[in-house]
Amino acid sequence: MTWLLNTLLGSLRIGVTEAFKADKDSRKINLGVGAYRDENGKPYVLNAVKKAEEILRTSNPDKEYLPITGLPEFTKAAIKLAYGAESAPLNENSIAVTQSISGTGALRIGGAFLGRFFPSAKTIYIPTPSWGNHTPIFRDSGLEVKQYRYFDKKTVGLDFDGLKEDLKNIPEKSIVLLHACAHNPTGVDPTPEQWKVISNIIKEKQAFPFFDMAYQGFASGDTTRDAFAVRYFVEQGHQVALSQSFAKNMGLYGERVGAFSLVTADPEEKSRVESQLKIVVRPMYSNPPVHGARIASTILNTPELNKEWEGEVKHMADRIISMRERLYNNLVAQGTPGEWGHIKSQIGMFSFTGLTTPQTKTLAEKAHIYMTADGRISMAGLNGHNIDYFSESVSKVVKG
Ligand code: PLP
Repeated sequence: MTWLLNTLLGSLRIGVTEAFKADKDSRKINLGVGAYRDENGKPYVLNAVKKAEEILRTSNPDKEYLPITGLPEFTKAAIKLAYGAESAPLNENSIAVTQSISGTGALRIGGAFLGRFFPSAKTIYIPTPSWGNHTPIFRDSGLEVKQYRYFDKKTVGLDFDGLKEDLKNIPEKSIVLLHACAHNPTGVDPTPEQWKVISNIIKEKQAFPFFDMAYQGFASGDTTRDAFAVRYFVEQGHQVALSQSFAKNMGLYGERVGAFSLVTADPEEKSRVESQLKIVVRPMYSNPPVHGARIASTILNTPELNKEWEGEVKHMADRIISMRERLYNNLVAQGTPGEWGHIKSQIGMFSFTGLTTPQTKTLAEKAHIYMTADGRISMAGLNGHNIDYFSESVSKVVKG
């Protein structure tokens, strides 16, 4: 009955959010959530989303099933956003795509597709560390999961030498998972020059790049800039797979809007791949939910709404960047021991602070500040009301 015991033990582990909820102190801060919060620490529904919902409400759409691969207007717009309007395979009609249950579902479809059809050893290499759900998603898809070095604890930056060495040593024709931008959990991304080197190594190894793009627009505030790696790889002739999520950049977390796509050789191969994608999806959930895809499609396909949305993505990204600046300035002004430049240079929603597990524990117990034990914080949980208290508390715990 080990399985039953493990289930019970699993349910006893208290998560960051549960501990936060149980804390009654008015100064408490939750930096564990992977969702954007506004200046008042509240969930944020984008204006573009509200307007799209209003358009949908007045058009009174039906609630019929979608096709297995989803809403065509949505999937078409999603791949245009990711690959760019100028993309050669996009314009040649060679990108196979299916709607998915957000980014997680896209990774799961991709994993299952590769698990079934990838011609050589079904091993996927993911960075260390990576988003906690990558390993279980790919393992459950029938792939073997291995790691390549990514993060250097000493510099709190990219371990580029380790990454290169590990990728050069993977067996030929392996699958490599790459975070397209705003790496979770570290907030450390390769530079454009480093992406070029990675692209060359992957080409030499005849490896297959699988991009996870959960934060397009969220990293820099610019959806084009954040798509650099994906577009560069495609320009270099890689046939990439791509997972897209609209959870963060449209704030559509619970609507579960995403897409899985794969660059193929030509329109004929594209239709064969799409047929196989249908065979993968059909027994999983038959067809995807309609409402969120309609919202995203309305935003992406209505020029004024699209413009407003791009502005809101930039607003969210800029607010996070301004919190990074303030946190850095506060920590330095308070004479906090250590080098804090990484707080400013890291990208996206998350920051690996470099705080140790005992320090995170002290922050929870003494200052009512909650984050994951690895010292990762969601920058979106910081705002004008709590940033000074947070910085002082961190400074205090680091000074010991
Ligand atoms: N990939 C990464 C790196 C993530 O951080 C997340 C969410 O936190 C996802 C994928 C999937 O998110 P969702 O399924 O909500 O789109």
